[in-house]
Amino acid sequence: MSKYWSDVVHGLTPYVPGEQPKLTGLIKLNTNECPYGPSLRVLQAIREAAGEDLRLYPDPDARALKETIAAHHHLQPEQVFVGNGSDEVLAHAFHALLKHEAPLLFPDITYSFYPVYARLYGISSRQLPLDAQFRVVVDDYLAVCAEGRVGGIIFPNPNAPTGIALELEEVARLLTGCPDAVVVVDEAYVDFGAETAATLINRHPNLIVIRTLSKARALAGLRVGYALGSAELIEGITRVKDSFNSYPLDRLAMAGSIAAIQDETWFAHTRERIVTSRHQLTAGLRALGFQVLPSAANFVFARHPTRDGAELAARLREQRILVRNFRQPERIAPFLRITVGTDAQCEALLQALAGIVQGTPAVLS
Ligand SMILES: *Cc1c(COP(=O)(O)O)cnc(C)c1O
Repeated sequence: MSKYWSDVVHGLTPYVPGEQPKLTGLIKLNTNECPYGPSLRVLQAIREAAGEDLRLYPDPDARALKETIAAHHHLQPEQVFVGNGSDEVLAHAFHALLKHEAPLLFPDITYSFYPVYARLYGISSRQLPLDAQFRVVVDDYLAVCAEGRVGGIIFPNPNAPTGIALELEEVARLLTGCPDAVVVVDEAYVDFGAETAATLINRHPNLIVIRTLSKARALAGLRVGYALGSAELIEGITRVKDSFNSYPLDRLAMAGSIAAIQDETWFAHTRERIVTSRHQLTAGLRALGFQVLPSAANFVFARHPTRDGAELAARLREQRILVRNFRQPERIAPFLRITVGTDAQCEALLQALAGIVQGTPAVLS
């Protein structure tokens, strides 16, 4: 606390990202990074861009990158917004499109950055519970829309941290049933097993799809994310960006991300490896007695019937393996969110868990 802080700062509860340890030799399965390096074409493009031109500001409109993204999704460049990581894109979308008199709706168990942005921008929100299987219940959202005004709707697909995907027909039903609310679908993990809503954009003017290169393109360190939507919605987000930072993406990030989107071979190969490893990891965890939610992402969400999530995470950390455990909401406190690593990393995790759950007596609370 400081008397020099503004009232806004006093009221903030900042988002806490997963640990980025300074120690080496850790098995890092806590922040859903890709265990494999990015496409070599990305590194080549960044090297080529790292020249004398760095004295010049980058293109404030990121036109070349927007054209690449638009072509990839069969959309127009005017339907694309790019930002410094999808977290920044989300922030601008909250500010530009989700701040209204009526409350913003999102699931009770979801990406924990949403309530942080809502608070930062003074947006009132209402959380709708996932069902007993941790699924988003579209009918609950439709019921609220039918009752009165809704300021907007946001959810990840697949959801985080559950990994559970919502079918495209359900997303479409939501868009049709809530035509007056902007619906933001955060597709950070869509490539690992869900269907993208990008194909619905030309039919639904209230839809924004958010993507990141951090997960399936192995570029968390480059900080590139984007939004897709009608030109009207994209213009709204752009107006906020141009009132904030004209150059959110630097020259290296633009060069690297264009190459990343163009390298379909690397992408298909890496995705396949991770999905295969996810199936093996799921089977291995189930063999140890864990309940594992059906994941369409590059992580699994799993709980042991008799072990506490925080205890398991702490015991793994002693063995230099990092996973994530969320204390809140209470319903997910027993769970571990485990990023799918290389097969060797997953094997080390399973070995360590076997030692913990089989080797020592359970502490039942
Ligand atoms: C990882 C993640 C993001 C943020 O991605 P960046 O582009 O790295 O900022 C956004 N939404 C969800 C649901 C995520 O898991």
